[in-house]
Amino acid sequence: MKKNPKRVTIVGAGLVGSLISIYLAKRGYEVTVFESRYDMRTHAFGGGRSINLALSTRGIRALEEVGLAEHTKEHAVPMNGRMMHNTQGHLTFQPYGEQGQYINSISRTGLNMALVAEAEKKGVKFQFEHRCLNVDLDKTELTFQFFGSTKHYPTDVIIGADGMFSSIRGAMKGSDPFDYSEHYVEHGYKELRIPPQEGGRFPIEKNALHIWPRESFMLIALPNPDATFTCTLFLPLEGEMSFAQLKSPEKIQAFFEKSFPDATPLMPTLIEDFRDNPTSSLVTIRCYPWAKHDVLLMGDAAHGIVPFYGQGMNAGFEDCRIFNHLLNQFDDDWESACTEFQRLRKPDADAIAQLALDNFVEMRDLVGTADFLLRKQIEARLHELYPKRWIPLYSMVTFHDHVRYSEAYETGKKQKKIMDQVMKTPEIAAHWASLNFEEIVNQL
Ligand code: FAD
Repeated sequence: MKKNPKRVTIVGAGLVGSLISIYLAKRGYEVTVFESRYDMRTHAFGGGRSINLALSTRGIRALEEVGLAEHTKEHAVPMNGRMMHNTQGHLTFQPYGEQGQYINSISRTGLNMALVAEAEKKGVKFQFEHRCLNVDLDKTELTFQFFGSTKHYPTDVIIGADGMFSSIRGAMKGSDPFDYSEHYVEHGYKELRIPPQEGGRFPIEKNALHIWPRESFMLIALPNPDATFTCTLFLPLEGEMSFAQLKSPEKIQAFFEKSFPDATPLMPTLIEDFRDNPTSSLVTIRCYPWAKHDVLLMGDAAHGIVPFYGQGMNAGFEDCRIFNHLLNQFDDDWESACTEFQRLRKPDADAIAQLALDNFVEMRDLVGTADFLLRKQIEARLHELYPKRWIPLYSMVTFHDHVRYSEAYETGKKQKKIMDQVMKTPEIAAHWASLNFEEIVNQL
C-alpha cells in the first residue's frame, strides 16, 4: 500500500462508498467515485419501490462525524421494539432496549442520495454509469465500461466499496494469498408493500418492526414516513413450503391468508408485487486480506452478511469511521492504517456475520415463544439492576457502539450459557422475580 497517496478512487457509490468518500474528501484527498448505475437523484430505481433499512447507533455515530445525523432524525421512523403477530393475529410487543432506545427505519435511496449530495459538496467527483471490469493490481489501474467504450484509469489507491458481488474483490481473489468463502442460506427474500390507510394513516403500529414468525419462514414489515410499510418475506427457495411452490396467484393468496391472516387484507397489491418484485438469495461472504497492493475493501465487499441483525450497513458505516480514526492515529500513513484496519475489523466482521445467521433462528422461530419472552424479561431485569455488568446481546450490538461486535459475540455466548441454566429453574415462569440476580450476574 502506498504510504501517502493523494488520489483515492472508490468503486461503488452505494452507502459505504459514498460515506467513505466524504470522510476522505474532508481529509483533503482528491476523491473520485465510479458507480455502475445511473445517478439515483435523476433516475428512480426499483420501479419506485421504497426499500428501507434499520439504522442504529453504530451507523448514526459514523454519520454524526460527517455532520449527517440530522438527515436521519428528519427522515427516519423510530422503531421502539418488535411487534410479533401470531397466526391468530394476536400481538405481542417486545421493546428493543431501555425506555427511549430505538432503531430507525430509513429509506435506502433517500440516505444514499443525501450521502452523494454531501460528498459532492465536499468536492468528491462522481462518475455514474461506469462499470468496473477489472483492476490491474500491479499498476493500480482500473478498467471501466462506459456505454460501448472501455476506459483505463490509473490512480494512487483504490477502495473497493462495490458491494456483495464486488468486482474489486474478484480481482484480488486472483492474486495469492487470498482466503474466500461464500455461504448461501436456503432462504430467499422478496419485498412487498402495505399501503397507507385512508387519510394517510398507518395501517398497523407505526413505531415498531413487525414480525410474523412462522418457524421455517417469516414476514417482516418496517414503516416509512409516508405511512406505508415495506414488507420482506423470507422463505426457503426450494422445498415443500417455498418460493418454488408459489407459482400461481391462487397459491400465493392462499399461502398468505393461511400464514399471515392479519397482514393479507392490508396488502391489496400482493399478487402484483409478488409477480413484479424479484426473489433474491441471501449469502455470507468472508474473505481475507482486505488490503492488498494499493487496494482496500470495505463494507459488503469485505464482509457480506445476511440481513437478520439489521447490521450490514451499520457495520459498513462503522468501517468508515474506524478507518478515518486510524488515518488520524497514523498521520495518514495508509500502509499502517490499512494493516491495522483489517487486523481490527476482521474479527468484528466475522462476529456480526455469525450473529446475523443466529438471529434468523431467533426471529423466525423463537421470538413468538413464551420461553423466549421470559428470557428477555429476566435479562431486562438483570440489566436494570446491573446496567454496566449485564447488557443484553441485542443491546450491545445495536445500541452500544463502544462494544466491539467480537466482544458482544463472546459475552453473548457466556450470557446464553448462564441463561440456559436459569431457565431450568423449576417453575421459572412463576418465580423468576425472586431469583438471586446478584448470583446470576456474578457468573459472567
Ligand atoms: P451496496 O449498498 O451494495 O453498494 C455497492 C455499490 O457498488 C452499488 O451502488 C453498486 O451499484 C455498485 N457497484 C457494484 N458493482 C460495481 C462495479 N463493477 N462497478 C461500479 N460500481 C459497482 N443493513 C442494515 O444495517 N440494516 C438493515 O436493516 C438492513 N436490511 C437489509 C435487508 C436486505 C433484504 C438486504 C439484502 C440487506 C440489508 N442490509 C441492512 C445490508 C445493507 O443493505 C448492506 O450492508 C449495505 O448496502 C452495504 O453497503 P455497501 O455500500 O457496502 O454495498
